[in-house]
Amino acid sequence: MNPNQRILVTGGAGFLGSQLCELLVARGDDVICLDNFFTSQKVNVIHLLDKPNFELIRHDVIVPIWLEVDQIYNLACPAAPGHYQYNPIKTIKTSVMGAINVLGLAKRCNARVLQASTSEIYGDPEMHPQPEHYRGSVNPIGPRACYDEGKRAAETLFMEYHRMNNVDIRIVRIFNTYGPRMHPFDGRVVSNFIRQALANEPLTLFGDGSQTRSFCYRDDLLQAMIQMMENEAGFIGPVNIGNPTEFTIRQLAELVIELTASSSEIVESELPVDDPVRRQPDISLAREKLSWEPEVSLRDGLAKTIDWFRTIDLAQYHPPTPNF
Ligand code: NAD
Ligand code: UDP
Repeated sequence: MNPNQRILVTGGAGFLGSQLCELLVARGDDVICLDNFFTSQKVNVIHLLDKPNFELIRHDVIVPIWLEVDQIYNLACPAAPGHYQYNPIKTIKTSVMGAINVLGLAKRCNARVLQASTSEIYGDPEMHPQPEHYRGSVNPIGPRACYDEGKRAAETLFMEYHRMNNVDIRIVRIFNTYGPRMHPFDGRVVSNFIRQALANEPLTLFGDGSQTRSFCYRDDLLQAMIQMMENEAGFIGPVNIGNPTEFTIRQLAELVIELTASSSEIVESELPVDDPVRRQPDISLAREKLSWEPEVSLRDGLAKTIDWFRTIDLAQYHPPTPNF
């Protein structure tokens, strides 16, 4: 690793981006956090504002920007279904035009650029668990398509800039990740269940809760993401990053109730359209190429996340969508 690199983190004020900025600032890099605050708030990076090696820019990635950097982590994109469905056209623009703009910047600066892709590119998968060579089963006209197809097109753009222009790229496909600084009103299952359990309100289980997800703790994910960026062995991905331990959503609800000692009930409601039935990463490639393995169990990670939720003032977070 070269010390003191100039690193741009788009979406740097978000859940994952803010912690990534914190890690990079702590190791001495010159960090530029770029965000339009669509799904985040300054509170996530307020503790970094007085650091000499941290800069915050309010900017939208669909508009080009002229900077001089050595590395770019491209995280700008709403990630929770309620957020990315709020303005689906903007979501596609953010993925596609955002990718074009960061790739153009990387090409001009000769910078390395990493794309935060997603397990959603596999859609509602027919193959289980999902390896990187699986091409996916996405409904191109459904309510999740603005995100899924936007991220798929972004991967295509990354590969074409690499093949045509020799841009130094990295692609990571992130599976459900949770932890402190998740937006408490983002509508994702972990934040909903914890918020509801701490208020002793009913936990909203969509469907019968038999659908599965595999939850990765934030710090495990970021460690793999940084390793991928720093990888000098010519491995560009795509690579799955996630925790392969699979849980049903009902099991998650029960665990959150246990860990919060809540008196909440679990209440079933309608399953959203195109909600994937199963999701579990095959992380053989990450194990082989990055020698990486997630370390934090769901029980331990949830306990840390619950501790954080207990410390925040919910009144400081606005629900960014009319869904709440
Ligand atoms: P997040 O919503 O907390 O962070 C996204 C950030 O991007 C926010 O700060 C938001 O304001 C910003 N943003 C959105 N549109 C923008 C635009 N047009 N211009 C500039 N900034 C913009 O979500 P997150 O969970 O931290 O996700 C970060 C990245 O990781 C996203 O690209 C997401 O698709 C990807 N990802 C996350 C998960 C997960 O489980 N957390 C899973 C798969 C992929
Ligand atoms: N879910 C739920 N209750 C909620 C929010 C989500 O049962 O309050 C379910 C949702 O239907 C999905 C899973 O939890 O099956 C994960 O949803 P999330 O929005 O967190 O992420 P996804 O993996 O679907 O993008």
